[in-house]
Amino acid sequence: MRYSGFRVIAEALTGHKGWKPVWRDPTPQPEYDYIIIGGGGHGLSTAYYLAKEFGQARIAVLEKGYLGGGNVGRNTTIIRSNYLLDGNEPFYEFSLKLWEGLEQDFNYNAMVSQRGIINLIHTDAQRDAATRRGNAMILHGAGAELLSREQVRQMYPWLNFDNARFPIKGALMQRRGGTVRHDAVAWGYARGADMRGVDLIQNCEVTGMRIENGRIKGVETTRGYIGAKKVGVAVAGSSSRVMAHAGMRLPIESHVLQAFVSEGLKPLIDGVMTFGAGHFYVSQSDKGGLVFGGDIDGYNSYAQRGNLPVIEDVAEGGMALMPAIGRVRLLRTWGGIMDMSMDGSPIIDKTPVEGLYFNGGWCYGGFKATPASGWCFAHLMAKDESHITAKAYRFDRFLRGLMIDEKGQGAQPNLH
Ligand SMILES: Cc1cc2nc3c(=O)[nH]c(=O)nc-3n(C[C@H](O)[C@H](O)[C@H](O)COP(=O)(O)OP(=O)(O)OC[C@H]3O[C@@H](n4cnc5c(N)ncnc54)[C@H](O)[C@@H]3O)c2cc1C
Repeated sequence: MRYSGFRVIAEALTGHKGWKPVWRDPTPQPEYDYIIIGGGGHGLSTAYYLAKEFGQARIAVLEKGYLGGGNVGRNTTIIRSNYLLDGNEPFYEFSLKLWEGLEQDFNYNAMVSQRGIINLIHTDAQRDAATRRGNAMILHGAGAELLSREQVRQMYPWLNFDNARFPIKGALMQRRGGTVRHDAVAWGYARGADMRGVDLIQNCEVTGMRIENGRIKGVETTRGYIGAKKVGVAVAGSSSRVMAHAGMRLPIESHVLQAFVSEGLKPLIDGVMTFGAGHFYVSQSDKGGLVFGGDIDGYNSYAQRGNLPVIEDVAEGGMALMPAIGRVRLLRTWGGIMDMSMDGSPIIDKTPVEGLYFNGGWCYGGFKATPASGWCFAHLMAKDESHITAKAYRFDRFLRGLMIDEKGQGAQPNLH
Protein backbone atom coordinates (compact mmCIF):
# COMPACT_ATOMS: atom_id res chain seq x y z
CA MET A 1 0.00 0.00 0.00
CA ARG A 2 1.33 3.42 -0.95
CA TYR A 3 0.88 6.14 1.68
CA SER A 4 -0.39 9.53 0.54
CA GLY A 5 -2.63 12.39 1.59
CA PHE A 6 -5.41 10.93 -0.57
CA ARG A 7 -5.06 7.59 1.20
CA VAL A 8 -5.45 9.26 4.61
CA ILE A 9 -8.61 11.05 3.42
CA ALA A 10 -10.00 7.88 1.83
CA GLU A 11 -9.36 5.87 5.01
CA ALA A 12 -10.87 8.60 7.18
CA LEU A 13 -14.07 8.43 5.10
CA THR A 14 -14.26 4.63 5.26
CA GLY A 15 -13.59 4.00 8.93
CA HIS A 16 -9.84 3.31 8.70
CA LYS A 17 -10.49 -0.32 7.76
CA GLY A 18 -7.96 -0.46 4.93
CA TRP A 19 -4.71 -0.04 6.89
CA LYS A 20 -2.61 -3.18 6.91
CA PRO A 21 0.26 -4.26 9.17
CA VAL A 22 3.37 -2.45 8.02
CA TRP A 23 5.39 -5.66 7.66
CA ARG A 24 4.71 -9.40 7.62
CA ASP A 25 5.66 -11.84 10.36
CA PRO A 26 7.29 -14.57 8.23
CA THR A 27 8.57 -17.98 9.29
CA PRO A 28 12.32 -18.30 8.71
CA GLN A 29 13.22 -20.13 5.47
CA PRO A 30 15.90 -22.86 5.62
CA GLU A 31 18.27 -20.73 3.53
CA TYR A 32 18.76 -17.20 2.21
CA ASP A 33 21.20 -15.53 -0.15
CA TYR A 34 21.77 -12.76 2.38
CA ILE A 35 21.27 -12.71 6.13
CA ILE A 36 21.63 -9.45 8.02
CA ILE A 37 22.04 -9.90 11.76
CA GLY A 38 20.50 -6.99 13.69
CA GLY A 39 17.17 -5.25 13.05
CA GLY A 40 18.35 -1.78 14.01
CA GLY A 41 18.63 1.18 11.67
CA HIS A 42 21.76 -0.09 9.96
CA GLY A 43 20.57 -3.68 9.48
CA LEU A 44 17.20 -2.60 8.11
CA SER A 45 18.64 0.03 5.78
CA THR A 46 21.16 -2.54 4.51
CA ALA A 47 18.36 -4.97 3.68
CA TYR A 48 16.32 -2.19 2.07
CA TYR A 49 19.14 -1.02 -0.21
CA LEU A 50 20.23 -4.60 -1.01
CA ALA A 51 16.72 -5.26 -2.28
CA LYS A 52 16.08 -1.90 -3.89
CA GLU A 53 19.40 -0.68 -5.26
CA PHE A 54 21.36 -3.88 -5.76
CA GLY A 55 18.54 -6.13 -6.96
CA GLN A 56 19.27 -8.92 -4.51
CA ALA A 57 16.63 -11.53 -3.68
CA ARG A 58 16.13 -13.89 -0.72
CA ILE A 59 17.18 -11.58 2.08
CA ALA A 60 16.41 -11.95 5.79
CA VAL A 61 17.00 -9.66 8.76
CA LEU A 62 17.34 -11.55 12.03
CA GLU A 63 16.56 -9.50 15.14
CA LYS A 64 16.88 -10.89 18.65
CA GLY A 65 14.19 -8.60 20.08
CA TYR A 66 11.79 -6.34 18.20
CA LEU A 67 12.63 -4.11 15.24
CA GLY A 68 13.89 -0.75 16.41
CA GLY A 69 14.31 -1.77 20.06
CA GLY A 70 18.04 -1.03 20.05
CA ASN A 71 19.93 2.22 19.62
CA VAL A 72 17.94 3.29 16.58
CA GLY A 73 14.97 3.84 18.90
CA ARG A 74 17.05 5.20 21.80
CA ASN A 75 19.13 7.99 20.31
CA THR A 76 18.70 11.75 20.48
CA THR A 77 17.81 11.90 16.76
CA ILE A 78 20.48 14.33 15.55
CA ILE A 79 21.66 14.26 11.95
CA ARG A 80 24.52 16.34 10.54
CA SER A 81 27.57 16.10 8.30
CA ASN A 82 29.90 18.51 10.10
CA TYR A 83 33.07 16.43 10.06
CA LEU A 84 36.65 17.49 9.49
CA LEU A 85 38.56 14.50 8.19
CA ASP A 86 38.64 13.20 4.63
CA GLY A 87 37.87 9.66 5.79
CA ASN A 88 34.60 10.84 7.38
CA GLU A 89 33.19 13.93 5.66
CA PRO A 90 32.28 12.45 2.23
CA PHE A 91 30.52 9.52 3.93
CA TYR A 92 28.44 11.66 6.31
CA GLU A 93 27.63 14.11 3.52
CA PHE A 94 26.42 11.18 1.40
CA SER A 95 24.26 10.20 4.36
CA LEU A 96 22.81 13.69 4.77
CA LYS A 97 21.93 13.76 1.06
CA LEU A 98 20.14 10.42 1.46
CA TRP A 99 18.24 11.80 4.48
CA GLU A 100 17.13 14.73 2.34
CA GLY A 101 15.31 12.42 -0.08
CA LEU A 102 14.52 9.56 2.29
CA GLU A 103 10.83 10.12 2.99
CA GLN A 104 9.98 10.24 -0.72
CA ASP A 105 12.27 7.29 -1.35
CA PHE A 106 10.71 4.91 1.16
CA ASN A 107 7.26 6.58 1.19
CA TYR A 108 7.12 7.02 4.96
CA ASN A 109 6.95 10.08 7.19
CA ALA A 110 10.15 9.99 9.23
CA MET A 111 9.80 13.66 10.24
CA VAL A 112 13.13 14.68 8.72
CA SER A 113 13.58 18.21 10.05
CA GLN A 114 16.56 20.23 8.83
CA ARG A 115 16.29 22.75 11.62
CA GLY A 116 20.03 23.50 11.77
CA ILE A 117 22.73 22.59 14.26
CA ILE A 118 25.14 24.92 16.02
CA ASN A 119 28.33 23.98 17.89
CA LEU A 120 29.07 26.73 20.40
CA ILE A 121 32.55 28.26 20.60
CA HIS A 122 33.96 29.39 23.96
CA THR A 123 37.65 30.08 23.30
CA ASP A 124 39.82 31.51 20.53
CA ALA A 125 41.38 28.08 19.99
CA GLN A 126 37.91 26.61 19.50
CA ARG A 127 37.16 29.30 16.93
CA ASP A 128 40.28 28.28 15.00
CA ALA A 129 39.24 24.62 15.13
CA ALA A 130 35.68 25.48 14.09
CA THR A 131 36.95 27.58 11.18
CA ARG A 132 39.12 24.70 9.99
CA ARG A 133 36.23 22.25 10.26
CA GLY A 134 33.85 24.66 8.55
CA ASN A 135 36.28 25.07 5.65
CA ALA A 136 36.58 21.29 5.28
CA MET A 137 32.79 21.04 5.23
CA ILE A 138 32.50 23.75 2.58
CA LEU A 139 35.13 22.01 0.44
CA HIS A 140 33.01 18.86 0.53
CA GLY A 141 29.82 20.73 -0.34
CA ALA A 142 28.28 20.24 3.11
CA GLY A 143 27.85 23.95 3.83
CA ALA A 144 28.95 25.71 7.02
CA GLU A 145 28.70 29.14 8.59
CA LEU A 146 30.71 30.74 11.36
CA LEU A 147 28.34 32.73 13.58
CA SER A 148 29.42 35.69 15.71
CA ARG A 149 28.47 35.99 19.35
CA GLU A 150 25.77 38.51 18.41
CA GLN A 151 24.28 36.20 15.81
CA VAL A 152 24.03 33.44 18.42
CA ARG A 153 22.53 35.92 20.89
CA GLN A 154 19.83 36.81 18.38
CA MET A 155 18.91 33.13 18.07
CA TYR A 156 19.02 32.22 21.75
CA PRO A 157 19.12 35.35 23.95
CA TRP A 158 18.57 33.33 27.11
CA LEU A 159 21.89 31.45 26.90
CA ASN A 160 24.52 32.31 29.53
CA PHE A 161 26.83 34.37 27.29
CA ASP A 162 28.85 35.96 30.05
CA ASN A 163 29.54 32.86 32.10
CA ALA A 164 33.00 33.65 33.50
CA ARG A 165 34.30 30.16 32.83
CA PHE A 166 32.57 29.42 29.54
CA PRO A 167 31.75 32.72 27.74
CA ILE A 168 30.03 32.10 24.39
CA LYS A 169 32.11 33.59 21.59
CA GLY A 170 30.24 32.33 18.54
CA ALA A 171 29.25 29.09 16.86
CA LEU A 172 29.78 26.87 13.86
CA MET A 173 26.48 26.25 12.12
CA GLN A 174 25.29 23.69 9.60
CA ARG A 175 21.82 24.70 8.49
CA ARG A 176 21.17 21.35 6.78
CA GLY A 177 21.68 19.43 10.04
CA GLY A 178 18.71 18.69 12.26
CA THR A 179 16.64 15.86 13.66
CA VAL A 180 14.67 12.85 12.38
CA ARG A 181 12.13 10.83 14.29
CA HIS A 182 14.35 7.85 15.12
CA ASP A 183 11.92 4.93 15.42
CA ALA A 184 10.08 6.02 12.26
CA VAL A 185 13.37 5.51 10.44
CA ALA A 186 13.41 1.87 11.55
CA TRP A 187 9.75 1.45 10.62
CA GLY A 188 10.16 3.15 7.23
CA TYR A 189 13.13 1.00 6.25
CA ALA A 190 11.40 -2.11 7.61
CA ARG A 191 8.28 -1.41 5.57
CA GLY A 192 10.29 -0.64 2.44
CA ALA A 193 12.33 -3.82 2.81
CA ASP A 194 9.27 -5.98 3.52
CA MET A 195 7.51 -4.56 0.44
CA ARG A 196 10.49 -5.79 -1.61
CA GLY A 197 10.27 -9.31 -0.20
CA VAL A 198 12.77 -9.14 2.65
CA ASP A 199 11.87 -11.45 5.56
CA LEU A 200 12.07 -9.50 8.83
CA ILE A 201 12.33 -12.11 11.55
CA GLN A 202 11.92 -10.85 15.10
CA ASN A 203 12.62 -12.71 18.36
CA CYS A 204 15.38 -14.57 16.55
CA GLU A 205 18.73 -14.28 18.29
CA VAL A 206 21.85 -15.44 16.48
CA THR A 207 23.68 -17.74 18.88
CA GLY A 208 26.40 -19.16 16.64
CA MET A 209 27.90 -19.21 13.16
CA ARG A 210 28.58 -22.24 11.02
CA ILE A 211 31.92 -21.74 9.25
CA GLU A 212 33.46 -24.47 7.06
CA ASN A 213 36.83 -24.22 5.31
CA GLY A 214 37.02 -20.50 6.05
CA ARG A 215 33.58 -19.80 4.56
CA ILE A 216 30.31 -18.86 6.27
CA LYS A 217 27.57 -21.43 5.74
CA GLY A 218 24.84 -20.08 7.98
CA VAL A 219 23.88 -19.07 11.49
CA GLU A 220 22.54 -20.85 14.56
CA THR A 221 19.57 -19.02 16.03
CA THR A 222 16.99 -19.40 18.77
CA ARG A 223 14.62 -20.36 15.93
CA GLY A 224 16.92 -23.01 14.48
CA TYR A 225 19.73 -23.13 11.94
CA ILE A 226 19.41 -20.85 8.89
CA GLY A 227 21.75 -21.23 5.92
CA ALA A 228 23.14 -18.24 4.00
CA LYS A 229 25.54 -17.48 1.18
CA LYS A 230 26.49 -14.15 2.74
CA VAL A 231 26.03 -12.85 6.28
CA GLY A 232 26.28 -9.20 7.36
CA VAL A 233 26.57 -8.29 11.03
CA ALA A 234 25.08 -4.92 12.10
CA VAL A 235 24.42 -5.31 15.81
CA ALA A 236 25.94 -2.06 17.18
CA GLY A 237 26.54 -2.50 20.94
CA SER A 238 26.56 -6.30 20.64
CA SER A 239 29.27 -6.34 17.95
CA SER A 240 31.96 -8.01 20.08
CA ARG A 241 29.61 -10.71 21.31
CA VAL A 242 28.27 -11.62 17.86
CA MET A 243 31.65 -11.52 16.10
CA ALA A 244 33.06 -13.77 18.82
CA HIS A 245 30.91 -16.50 17.18
CA ALA A 246 33.31 -16.21 14.22
CA GLY A 247 36.35 -16.22 16.51
CA MET A 248 37.04 -12.51 15.90
CA ARG A 249 38.13 -10.02 18.54
CA LEU A 250 37.24 -6.46 17.48
CA PRO A 251 38.87 -3.06 18.11
CA ILE A 252 35.59 -2.10 19.80
CA GLU A 253 34.39 -1.68 23.40
CA SER A 254 30.77 -1.50 24.53
CA HIS A 255 29.75 1.45 26.73
CA VAL A 256 26.44 2.87 27.96
CA LEU A 257 25.17 6.23 26.71
CA GLN A 258 22.17 7.86 28.33
CA ALA A 259 19.56 10.23 26.90
CA PHE A 260 17.11 12.54 28.68
CA VAL A 261 13.75 14.17 28.00
CA SER A 262 12.25 16.97 30.08
CA GLU A 263 8.61 17.81 30.62
CA GLY A 264 6.98 19.68 27.72
CA LEU A 265 7.84 23.38 27.43
CA LYS A 266 6.76 26.20 25.15
CA PRO A 267 8.97 26.55 22.05
CA LEU A 268 12.45 27.48 23.26
CA ILE A 269 15.03 25.89 20.96
CA ASP A 270 14.20 25.68 17.27
CA GLY A 271 17.42 23.92 16.25
CA VAL A 272 20.06 21.62 17.71
CA MET A 273 22.79 23.01 19.95
CA THR A 274 25.98 21.56 21.38
CA PHE A 275 27.88 23.09 24.30
CA GLY A 276 31.57 23.51 23.49
CA ALA A 277 32.85 23.62 27.05
CA GLY A 278 31.38 20.37 28.30
CA HIS A 279 29.62 17.38 26.90
CA PHE A 280 26.01 18.52 26.53
CA TYR A 281 23.75 18.77 23.49
CA VAL A 282 20.08 19.66 23.25
CA SER A 283 17.13 20.06 20.93
CA GLN A 284 13.39 20.36 21.53
CA SER A 285 10.96 17.69 20.41
CA ASP A 286 7.76 18.50 18.58
CA LYS A 287 5.90 17.67 21.82
CA GLY A 288 7.91 20.34 23.64
CA GLY A 289 10.29 18.20 25.69
CA LEU A 290 13.95 19.14 25.76
CA VAL A 291 15.85 16.15 24.37
CA PHE A 292 19.42 16.15 25.61
CA GLY A 293 22.45 14.05 26.35
CA GLY A 294 26.11 14.14 27.24
CA ASP A 295 28.93 11.76 27.93
CA ILE A 296 28.97 7.98 28.03
CA ASP A 297 28.98 6.37 31.45
CA GLY A 298 32.64 5.49 31.00
CA TYR A 299 32.84 1.81 31.87
CA ASN A 300 32.19 -1.29 29.77
CA SER A 301 28.67 -2.62 29.99
CA TYR A 302 25.92 -4.40 28.07
CA ALA A 303 23.16 -2.92 30.27
CA GLN A 304 20.70 -0.62 28.49
CA ARG A 305 20.55 1.72 31.48
CA GLY A 306 22.99 4.17 33.04
CA ASN A 307 23.91 5.63 36.40
CA LEU A 308 23.25 8.75 38.46
CA PRO A 309 26.73 10.40 38.34
CA VAL A 310 26.42 10.92 34.57
CA ILE A 311 22.90 12.28 34.99
CA GLU A 312 24.34 14.86 37.43
CA ASP A 313 27.21 15.64 35.05
CA VAL A 314 24.87 16.19 32.08
CA ALA A 315 22.54 18.35 34.22
CA GLU A 316 25.55 20.48 35.27
CA GLY A 317 26.47 20.99 31.60
CA GLY A 318 22.91 22.05 30.83
CA MET A 319 22.79 24.47 33.77
CA ALA A 320 26.13 26.06 32.84
CA LEU A 321 24.81 26.76 29.35
CA MET A 322 21.20 27.67 30.06
CA PRO A 323 20.47 28.40 33.72
CA ALA A 324 16.81 28.98 32.74
CA ILE A 325 16.22 25.22 32.75
CA GLY A 326 17.04 24.93 36.48
CA ARG A 327 13.43 24.30 37.48
CA VAL A 328 12.48 22.10 34.54
CA ARG A 329 11.57 18.58 35.55
CA LEU A 330 13.13 15.55 33.95
CA LEU A 331 10.53 13.24 32.47
CA ARG A 332 12.50 10.21 31.29
CA THR A 333 16.03 8.85 30.95
CA TRP A 334 17.23 5.69 29.28
CA GLY A 335 20.44 4.13 27.97
CA GLY A 336 21.76 2.36 24.90
CA ILE A 337 24.86 0.27 24.30
CA MET A 338 27.45 2.02 22.18
CA ASP A 339 29.94 0.21 19.98
CA MET A 340 32.91 2.49 20.71
CA SER A 341 35.81 1.97 18.30
CA MET A 342 39.43 2.78 19.12
CA ASP A 343 39.57 5.88 16.90
CA GLY A 344 35.94 6.97 17.14
CA SER A 345 35.18 6.06 13.50
CA PRO A 346 33.19 3.13 12.12
CA ILE A 347 34.10 -0.07 10.30
CA ILE A 348 32.30 -1.35 7.16
CA ASP A 349 34.38 -4.20 5.88
CA LYS A 350 34.81 -7.83 4.88
CA THR A 351 36.22 -10.19 7.48
CA PRO A 352 38.79 -12.99 7.13
CA VAL A 353 35.83 -15.40 6.92
CA GLU A 354 34.62 -15.55 3.31
CA GLY A 355 31.05 -14.34 2.97
CA LEU A 356 31.01 -12.70 6.43
CA TYR A 357 30.85 -8.90 6.57
CA PHE A 358 30.93 -6.47 9.48
CA ASN A 359 29.34 -3.08 10.11
CA GLY A 360 29.92 -1.39 13.48
CA GLY A 361 32.01 0.89 15.67
CA TRP A 362 29.47 3.71 15.34
CA CYS A 363 30.18 5.14 18.78
CA TYR A 364 27.43 7.61 19.62
CA GLY A 365 27.11 9.00 16.12
CA GLY A 366 25.62 6.17 14.12
CA PHE A 367 22.05 7.39 13.77
CA LYS A 368 22.95 10.11 11.28
CA ALA A 369 24.90 7.47 9.35
CA THR A 370 21.92 5.10 8.99
CA PRO A 371 21.15 5.68 5.27
CA ALA A 372 24.76 5.77 4.05
CA SER A 373 25.77 2.89 6.30
CA GLY A 374 23.02 0.71 4.85
CA TRP A 375 23.82 1.78 1.29
CA CYS A 376 27.57 1.21 1.68
CA PHE A 377 27.15 -2.10 3.51
CA ALA A 378 24.73 -3.32 0.83
CA HIS A 379 27.22 -2.20 -1.83
CA LEU A 380 30.03 -4.11 -0.11
CA MET A 381 27.95 -7.26 0.35
CA ALA A 382 26.57 -7.24 -3.20
CA LYS A 383 29.76 -6.28 -5.06
CA ASP A 384 32.50 -7.35 -2.65
CA GLU A 385 33.95 -3.89 -3.03
CA SER A 386 33.81 -0.86 -0.72
CA HIS A 387 31.62 2.07 -1.71
CA ILE A 388 33.73 5.09 -2.60
CA THR A 389 32.66 7.03 0.51
CA ALA A 390 33.40 4.12 2.87
CA LYS A 391 36.82 3.08 1.61
CA ALA A 392 38.54 4.34 4.76
CA TYR A 393 36.34 2.28 7.09
CA ARG A 394 38.41 -0.87 6.97
CA PHE A 395 39.78 -3.08 9.73
CA ASP A 396 43.32 -2.81 8.45
CA ARG A 397 43.52 0.89 9.28
CA PHE A 398 44.35 -0.16 12.85
CA LEU A 399 47.13 -2.43 11.56
CA ARG A 400 48.50 0.16 9.16
CA GLY A 401 48.26 3.11 11.58
CA LEU A 402 45.77 5.00 9.38
CA MET A 403 43.37 5.93 12.16
CA ILE A 404 40.47 8.32 11.50
CA ASP A 405 40.64 10.10 14.83
CA GLU A 406 38.19 12.96 14.30
CA LYS A 407 38.66 14.24 17.84
CA GLY A 408 42.40 13.65 18.09
CA GLN A 409 41.93 11.70 21.32
CA GLY A 410 44.19 8.72 20.63
CA ALA A 411 43.33 5.06 21.03
CA GLN A 412 40.93 5.47 23.92
CA PRO A 413 37.38 4.56 22.96
CA ASN A 414 35.77 6.03 26.07
CA LEU A 415 37.03 9.50 25.03
CA HIS A 416 35.70 9.55 21.47
C1 LIG B 1 21.31 7.67 24.13
C2 LIG B 1 21.83 7.67 22.72
C3 LIG B 1 21.88 8.84 21.99
C4 LIG B 1 22.36 8.84 20.69
N1 LIG B 1 22.28 9.99 19.94
C5 LIG B 1 22.65 10.00 18.65
C6 LIG B 1 22.45 11.16 17.85
O1 LIG B 1 21.87 12.15 18.30
N2 LIG B 1 22.88 11.13 16.56
C7 LIG B 1 23.51 10.04 16.04
O2 LIG B 1 23.91 10.08 14.88
N3 LIG B 1 23.66 8.90 16.75
C8 LIG B 1 23.23 8.85 18.04
N4 LIG B 1 23.36 7.70 18.78
C9 LIG B 1 24.00 6.52 18.18
C10 LIG B 1 23.09 5.71 17.29
O3 LIG B 1 21.84 5.52 17.89
C11 LIG B 1 23.75 4.35 17.00
O4 LIG B 1 25.09 4.53 16.58
C12 LIG B 1 23.03 3.58 15.89
O5 LIG B 1 21.64 3.58 16.10
C13 LIG B 1 23.57 2.14 15.86
O6 LIG B 1 23.12 1.39 14.77
P1 LIG B 1 21.74 0.53 14.75
O7 LIG B 1 20.61 1.48 14.60
O8 LIG B 1 21.85 -0.48 13.72
O9 LIG B 1 21.79 -0.12 16.20
P2 LIG B 1 20.65 -0.88 17.01
O10 LIG B 1 19.34 -0.21 16.85
O11 LIG B 1 21.18 -1.06 18.39
O12 LIG B 1 20.57 -2.26 16.24
C14 LIG B 1 21.31 -3.42 16.54
C15 LIG B 1 20.32 -4.54 16.69
O13 LIG B 1 21.01 -5.77 16.77
C16 LIG B 1 20.25 -6.64 17.59
N5 LIG B 1 21.08 -7.76 18.02
C17 LIG B 1 22.11 -7.74 18.91
N6 LIG B 1 22.61 -8.98 19.07
C18 LIG B 1 21.91 -9.78 18.24
C19 LIG B 1 21.95 -11.18 17.96
N7 LIG B 1 22.83 -11.97 18.56
N8 LIG B 1 21.05 -11.68 17.07
C20 LIG B 1 20.15 -10.89 16.45
N9 LIG B 1 20.07 -9.56 16.70
C21 LIG B 1 20.93 -9.02 17.58
C22 LIG B 1 19.80 -5.72 18.71
O14 LIG B 1 18.69 -6.26 19.40
C23 LIG B 1 19.48 -4.43 17.98
O15 LIG B 1 18.11 -4.31 17.65
C24 LIG B 1 22.86 7.65 20.11
C25 LIG B 1 22.80 6.46 20.84
C26 LIG B 1 22.27 6.46 22.13
C27 LIG B 1 22.18 5.17 22.89
